[in-house]
Amino acid sequence: MPRSFEEKLALYAKLAVRLGVNVQPGQELIISADINDAPFARLATAEAYKVGAKNVTVFYSDEVNILTRYREGSREAIEYTAGWFIDGMARAMEENACRLVVHGGNPALLKQVDPELVRIASKAQAIATQKLAAFIGNFTINWNIVASVSPEWARMVFPGESDEVAMAKLWDAIFQCSHVDTEDPLKSWQDHCDELAKRKDWLNNLNFYSLHFKGPGTDLEIGLAENNRFIGGWGQARNGVRCAPNIPTEEVFGMPHRLRVNGVVSSTKPLSLRGQIVDKIQVEFKDGVAVKAKAEQGESTLIGLLDTDESARRLGEVALVPNSAAVSRTGLLFFNTLYDENAACHIAFGRCIGENMTGYENLSPEQRLAAGANESAVHVDWMIGSGEIDIDGVHKDGSRVPLMRSGEWASA
Ligand code: ZN
Repeated sequence: MPRSFEEKLALYAKLAVRLGVNVQPGQELIISADINDAPFARLATAEAYKVGAKNVTVFYSDEVNILTRYREGSREAIEYTAGWFIDGMARAMEENACRLVVHGGNPALLKQVDPELVRIASKAQAIATQKLAAFIGNFTINWNIVASVSPEWARMVFPGESDEVAMAKLWDAIFQCSHVDTEDPLKSWQDHCDELAKRKDWLNNLNFYSLHFKGPGTDLEIGLAENNRFIGGWGQARNGVRCAPNIPTEEVFGMPHRLRVNGVVSSTKPLSLRGQIVDKIQVEFKDGVAVKAKAEQGESTLIGLLDTDESARRLGEVALVPNSAAVSRTGLLFFNTLYDENAACHIAFGRCIGENMTGYENLSPEQRLAAGANESAVHVDWMIGSGEIDIDGVHKDGSRVPLMRSGEWASA
């Protein structure tokens, strides 16, 4: 018998809590969600208590109030970040609380807001929450991000459909990409992550010096940081818990060297950034820095991001995703990075993921920089892969191994 929507949602919550976050008995869980995502957050809460969580706290955001702050708030209010809240979250994670972030909402929420105000608020937020982001980026604790459907989001993905139809279609796509529509979703997800882990081991054994991307509007050499370690599927948190940080996930990703990125690159999908759509991005890199950046749409939002701090113009991630991956196969543009980044190879401006460098945790900030790790208040992925991209792995002596041809892995 086909499963009902409620049954699928419950399985999705089970997957997020048990294999995504992998909440441990006695562990505290903090969930962030929009008030519209309450049905999912409640199922996740129940699942977490079933596995023995000590406590579950859900922090709900409200998009109406987010807009109200921009419309009615003073300049001071827009620049303000609640330090007490950030400190509290940091303390919880220092005490080993794990995190589940439910990501959905309206991708174009801030479209009506003055981009300058969004830039100011986003920058203040990014800087104030840098410490929190590090708990996630460095895998201090186990965590997971999943998506939940809002009517605004569904309408953007399926324009012209009624809210009801659009939401049902978007949920179907999400369940499909998350293996919830398989007979045994948890087993299927486990196998999928094991596959990605195999691919990552293969890449790590080849020990490349750089990756070379070639395609329409793209000819980019991305040097890899010293002791680069590709990651895929599973994430091993420092508290000893293995999690699957993203649902869905199709990527195997590594750390670019902050000084060794050269060439030109074009985006292949629009980027949803700070409530705006940034499309048809073209960037030129020289010695790691994006020296030229333009976009046909949303250019000021892009430049605002790049001007966040000194290192926002350098790269913190390079990810390989085959064009035939489940998210890509839906043929949809999700306007949501969690999904769109899993449909295509991508790079990220800004902060590196510490876990991508062996021994990162034992290095001083100076040593990290010297090894090529980029530190920034931001980390924004954007898509550069397609069915037309070729990628070579390049060794230090210049010898090459074809990694991808026409967007697919060159070897099984
Ligand atoms: Zn990524």
